[in-house]
This record gives sequence, C-alpha cells and structure tokens, in this order.
Amino acid sequence: MLRRSFLLFTFYFFSAAAFAQPSSQGNTGKPKLVVGLVIDQMRWDYMYRFNALYGEGGFKRLLKEGFSAENTFVPYVPTYTAVGHTCIYTGSVPAISGIVGNNWFDKTTGKNVYCTDDSTVSTVGNNGKAGKMSPDNLWVTTITDELRLSNNFKSKVIGVALKDRGSILPAGHSANAAYWYDGGKWITSSHYMTALPAWVEQFNAKDLAGKYMSKDWTTVLPIDRYDLSTADEKPYESVIKGEKTTTFPHKLSAIPDSFKYESFRTTPFANSFTFDFAKTAIENENLGKNTVTDFLTVSISSTDYIGHTFGPNSVEIEDTYLRLDKDIADFLSYLDARLGKGNYTLFLSADHAVAHIPAFLAEHKIPGGNFEDADLRKELNQMIEADFGVSKAVQSLQNYQVYLNISELEKQGKNVAAVKRAVIKTLQAKPFIITAFETDKLAATTLPEPQKTMLANGFNPKRSGDIQFTLKAGYFDGGAKGTTHGLWNPYDAHIPCVFFGWGVKPGKTNRETYMTDIAPTVAAMLHIQMPSGSVGKVITELIK
Ligand code: ZN
Ligand code: ZN
Repeated sequence: MLRRSFLLFTFYFFSAAAFAQPSSQGNTGKPKLVVGLVIDQMRWDYMYRFNALYGEGGFKRLLKEGFSAENTFVPYVPTYTAVGHTCIYTGSVPAISGIVGNNWFDKTTGKNVYCTDDSTVSTVGNNGKAGKMSPDNLWVTTITDELRLSNNFKSKVIGVALKDRGSILPAGHSANAAYWYDGGKWITSSHYMTALPAWVEQFNAKDLAGKYMSKDWTTVLPIDRYDLSTADEKPYESVIKGEKTTTFPHKLSAIPDSFKYESFRTTPFANSFTFDFAKTAIENENLGKNTVTDFLTVSISSTDYIGHTFGPNSVEIEDTYLRLDKDIADFLSYLDARLGKGNYTLFLSADHAVAHIPAFLAEHKIPGGNFEDADLRKELNQMIEADFGVSKAVQSLQNYQVYLNISELEKQGKNVAAVKRAVIKTLQAKPFIITAFETDKLAATTLPEPQKTMLANGFNPKRSGDIQFTLKAGYFDGGAKGTTHGLWNPYDAHIPCVFFGWGVKPGKTNRETYMTDIAPTVAAMLHIQMPSGSVGKVITELIK
C-alpha cells in the first residue's frame, strides 16, 4: 500500500513536471536574478585572514558552495574605484573604456573631470549637485547593458551603492535605475528618471541612516579577540569626521548633526544600510520575478572608507569584515527564501585591494612611504619656471602621471622634448620613484611584466597624462595617516573573485585570472553577447 501510493505520487510528480509551462527561467534556462556584489577595497586575503572568526553562512558558504578564482588580478593601473567597477562590468580596460581614474584632466577644456560627472542631467531626490551624474564618460557597454540588449530590454537592471561611481558604472547606460547616497538618503539622476519611485521615498522617510548613527560602534566580539590586528589606538590611524580618537567604542551618537550623514559612510552600519536598500529594491521592483533574468548590482562602499581611515591591520577593519560576513550571510538567506536556492547567480569581487599604512610597515622594518602629489607638482613647476621660463606648465599631476600644458609651451616657442626630459630627470631623482617615461613611449621603455601590460592597459591618449612614473613597493601618493591604493602591486591588484549559485560548478582554481574575465564569464553563462570593449576570457572551469 505504501509502495503503491509512492508510485502514484512519483507518476503524478513527473507528469506535472512534464506538462509544466516551458519557462525561460529556473533550472531549465537562465537564473532569475544575477547579483553582482563588489566589496570596495576588499583584499583577496581577507577571505582567509579572518576565516576562523567568520560564521558558516557568509564568506565560508560562498567558498564552500561556490567557485573561487583564487588568483584574480586587476590587469591595469591605476587601481581605483571607478576603473575597477568599470572593468568588472565591462571586461574592459581604461585604454578602451575611457574610465582612466576616478578623476582625470581634460586637456581640451583644461579642467579636471570626475568619472561620472554630467552637467546635462539633474539630481533626482534633492536639490543638490550630487545627482548631476551619469555613465556618459564610459565609452563601452556593460554586461548589464548586454543583458538588456539581449531581450529587447525586458530584463530589469538596478544599481545600488553609497558611492555614485559604484552604482552608475556597474548599472550601465541603459539601466532602469542607479541609486546612490547623499545626506542620509538615496538619490539618482535625470539620466534614469524624473522622480524617485514611491518606495524609495518611503525608504528615505524612515531616516535609517540617522537611526544607525544614534547607536555607537562597539566591536561585535570582545575586543581582546581581535588578535589579528594591531592595538586599537595607533598614531598613524586617521579619524572618523566628528571624532577625536581612533579607539572603540566609536561614539557615533556624539557626532554633530551637521556631518553625521557623511561620517555614516565610515561605519560598518552603512554596509548593512546598503543591503537594507538592496532588499527593498528587490521587493518593490519584483527583481527575479520577471519572465527573463534581472540584474542587481550592489557595491559595498564603507569597507573602502574604513580601510582608508584605519588601514588593513586595524581592529576597525577586522570588525567591519566580521559584520560584513553576517550581512552577506543574511543577504544569501534572504535571496534563498525569496527566489529559491540555486535560482540566482551571485558573484563577489572587489574594485581593487589596498596597501598597508607605511608607518605600520615601518614599525616592522618593512619598506614603504608616502608623498603628496601636490608637492611633486609644485616642485616640477618651479623647476620648469626656473629653467624654461614658463609658469604652471604642469597642469595636473594625478594617477601617477604628469599632465603638461603642451600647447602653452609650444606657443611660447619652448623645446617641449627638452621640458619632458627635465621633468623625467627630476622625477627619477626622487628616492621613492623607480622610473619615469613619456606615456606614449611605453613600448620603448624597459619594464617587467605585469607592470608593462598593466600600464599599457591603463594608458588612454585622450585622457591620460604625458609622463608616467613608477614607485618602489609600499609607496603611494597620500597623507601620513591612513592608507590608499592605486598601484600595480599585488597588495592593490589581487582581488577576490567568487561565483555562486545558478550555473556555477563548486570548486576553485589557482590559475591566474583577471578582473576582465568576470563580465565575459557572466555573458557565457547567460548566453548573451559580451560587452563591446571586453578583452577578458571566460573562466570556463566554473560553468556547470
Ligand atoms: Zn574603491
Ligand atoms: Zn579607496
């Protein structure tokens, strides 16, 4: 009797499956949703460094059930946020994508450009200027654009990040929406819409950021458990704006109202706040309940703000990653419950990693140091004025490149080649600089790999400077407190790359892979065209 009912059940079950409506989703064809999760400034080694303290449902689950490309590198310089987000979603490099930095100097207008600035659009959500942004400076398509192109724009694409560039560049040109943070609220621009959807207004009205800031930041574990970090108080740590000390508990509730919403960025609670908003977007936009695959891009920005302020060896960073691990576990459970386990694909990566604070390295006799771009620029300008009689000939010095006012030098009848030689000589005399050369003479310059290829991928004649310089390891442009990223070195360029969920074969590879491989891999999984400037290769090992 028992057996007979089992057989009947089995028969019914398979018949129902056989006659079910063919679907373009679920296990038969495509994932319901792709989630791109970029952790701003996440070093690859954070997955392992804090592993013993992570729970089972976050990073550990991604590594256990997903596929990890363990040796994924950024294949260009400079390793900055705008460039990293662009590369992940376009499979392209600055030479082709046009995004050569967070900022660059426009030689035709003589003005500094911010990557997502767009004077032709307006802020949607408040009356400020923080929304005058779009992906207009990006010359190529994103994987999210390609998904929209693949099905006549049926797929919904939404970008979420505190940072404008972390939201706009991943979501692409044709996105339904990209939201970023300004003064406690989520805003967007007229590139996407003319008014915020009611659900965004409702979310903003809750003042969640203000509520998070009404509580102090204490460590999630007893502070003596943080033995992977230096002592809590170090003179080379910077402070959260509005605080006077660098120690726990961080008294967020005492930060003045006038900048508490800005200081909020430098707390792990702004990461939770980003996930809160991402979930609200999934629910209200019905992401993953479409007839085709939808795409949500989420970038977690506070890891970067906190990393810059306190450095990778701080209690603050360790605590931030323990909290992020919980947030990721919670987000995965949420997606499982909402869309069903195995019905969505998620990838986790980072836009770049980060260097140790030079003063921390010095405590342990490890080489490193810092200098200020502005000082170097001043020195070069004084030299050119003294030797060639032209003032302010260096118009800009950023991204480890010197922008010269060539037209002015020519107008005054100067020998431009001689000026360039003098600049190179001055740079090469600096103890922290290894070499300097004209950017368009890279091919003729003796440099080892991967430096040479990374510099070539990063060089864009329309937006890059005239002279490039390279540094000794451990050195960067920036202040003595806190740290930064931007160089070719493994500590800045080695990033996590984990795929998880629908279509992903669990496992790992130690083969060298690149940030540029992420977008073509997603394209292969979804059977859609790769982005228009993609130079990456599919990570075939991870595709089921
Ligand atoms: Zn970044
Ligand atoms: Zn950064």
